[in-house]
Amino acid sequence: MGVGTARHCIFCEIVHGAGEASICYEDADAIAFMDIQPVNAGHVLVVPKAHFDSMDDVPEELALHLFGVALRLSPIVRRLAGASAVNVVVSSGREAGQDVFHHHVHLIPRVAGDGFEVPLPHAGSSMPDRTTLDAMAARIMCAMHDPVRRVVPLGVAVA
Ligand code: AMP
Ligand code: ZN
Repeated sequence: MGVGTARHCIFCEIVHGAGEASICYEDADAIAFMDIQPVNAGHVLVVPKAHFDSMDDVPEELALHLFGVALRLSPIVRRLAGASAVNVVVSSGREAGQDVFHHHVHLIPRVAGDGFEVPLPHAGSSMPDRTTLDAMAARIMCAMHDPVRRVVPLGVAVA
């Protein structure tokens, strides 16, 4: 939640020049700097200047802007890092692995054998039948068109 500046937020400190960072891009709304513990050299974080805890809190226009910055940085980072591929990663929420609660987009250059894994499809998951997938898709589509966005959590019976 929240907007503006959060107290004790390391990324807010960086935005305001109070924290050390190696900045590689800046505009009115966004800043990008080198991850302090990179997967590979060239690992960049694209960060909004205003504080938002997680992706769901970020206004759509700003979220798209951040993705646009990542898109523009991607070929440059990839070339300079001598990488053959890139992962763009957002972890939104603790269970998704988010550690720093100031929204950010990871731009991770990838090289063969670097050992970093985004293991999809998940080895422990099964493949639901088409009816189940269709039902889920229909519920999402309905919720998208529901003006009051009353979303019943998945797995909860609808009255
Ligand atoms: P996440 O798990 O998506 O929240 O990722 C947080 C990332 O922020 C990690 O990759 C950290 O290495 C990185 N990080 C944490 N503190 C700093 C910092 N002071 N400067 C740059 N990167 C940082
Ligand atoms: Zn912050």
